[in-house]
Amino acid sequence: MRTIFVDLEAIASNYKTLKSLTSAKVMAIVKADAFGHGIIEVSKKLESIGVDMLATADLEEAHQIREAGIKSPILAWLHGSETDFAAAIKNDIQIGLSTVAGLEAVAVSARQVSGTAKVHLKVDTGLGRNGAALSDWPEVVAKAVALKNEGLVELVGVFSHLSGTSAKDDADQLAVFEQAVSTAETLGAHFQLRHLAASAATLNQSQAHLDMVRVGIALYGLDPTPHLKAADFGLVPAMRVSSEVVSVKQVPQGHGVSYGYLHKTSGPSTLALVPFGYAEGMPRIATGRASVLLNGKRYPILARIAMDQFILDVGNDQVKVGDEVVIFGNGAKGEPTAEELALAAETINYEIVTRIGGRAKRVFK
Ligand SMILES: *Cc1c(COP(=O)(O)O)cnc(C)c1O
Repeated sequence: MRTIFVDLEAIASNYKTLKSLTSAKVMAIVKADAFGHGIIEVSKKLESIGVDMLATADLEEAHQIREAGIKSPILAWLHGSETDFAAAIKNDIQIGLSTVAGLEAVAVSARQVSGTAKVHLKVDTGLGRNGAALSDWPEVVAKAVALKNEGLVELVGVFSHLSGTSAKDDADQLAVFEQAVSTAETLGAHFQLRHLAASAATLNQSQAHLDMVRVGIALYGLDPTPHLKAADFGLVPAMRVSSEVVSVKQVPQGHGVSYGYLHKTSGPSTLALVPFGYAEGMPRIATGRASVLLNGKRYPILARIAMDQFILDVGNDQVKVGDEVVIFGNGAKGEPTAEELALAAETINYEIVTRIGGRAKRVFK
């Protein structure tokens, strides 16, 4: 009664489209369960078409796909205080690092397992997230070079992340990044992979492509920003979410609908119950703003979205139990898109697709 359809062919085709837009390598970001699309299935599909590299934020998800049989290079860069880097080295997962302490912890693990950790150093070029502060950068690089000389670390990459604040801000970050790479080279570090661009810069800032781009949202066919439309680049949304009508009843004029009676029927009317609530990631704040597609027609969700369900007032329209209700999809049949639902919920498509789920089942095609 609640289904998330994931079109793996669309993801594969988006990957190829993104490859065609750049001469750089393309890293596919499958963090957060592949942006809600299913990390194992998405990773397998991408590997089958020869993905250059996969990446997650957490090592846990990297292990999950390695253990599912993924052989492609994998990078993970967000680590907790108790992270087991030995497992990462044994599972051949590349590790993003930004601190001397992180490098030391990785070195201890490398010694323990008699291995070499594959490392990407991260520098903060302005975003203020992880990444070494510029003042710490020479020390971090020097430590990495020392560990490389001991054979404990292989320096594979160097990276940073853009804020997307403005073209000027991104250009400034690119300049800071190039300077940081050159500082690192002076200190004896050499990297095969310099990477900075995520989806937005992959689509509109080719000067930031460097050796590799990291694509997340665009891979799933969604807009990286409201001004940068995935469709304009031939990318197609891979997720379609639907539910169904599970009960239909006639009520008189003035009947309350859902908590707080935010909506009351304006005449004798039909109410259709749809079992897709905020536990499935249907944003409660979208009450009164979102609409869904039912039998080819849009219906606004006027009544309070609840945990398990929402209710449509369909007036005198013919609606029956089992009729499909499309929450969002690619928009081709008139259904809302993830972008439209995001707007109704005062958020971004990224948050919509990563939070959709709950009791809904994924179906892959
Ligand atoms: C999530 C993430 C990405 C992907 O960003 P998109 O905008 O979805 O392409 C790339 N790089 C880093 C460091 C990230 O955290």
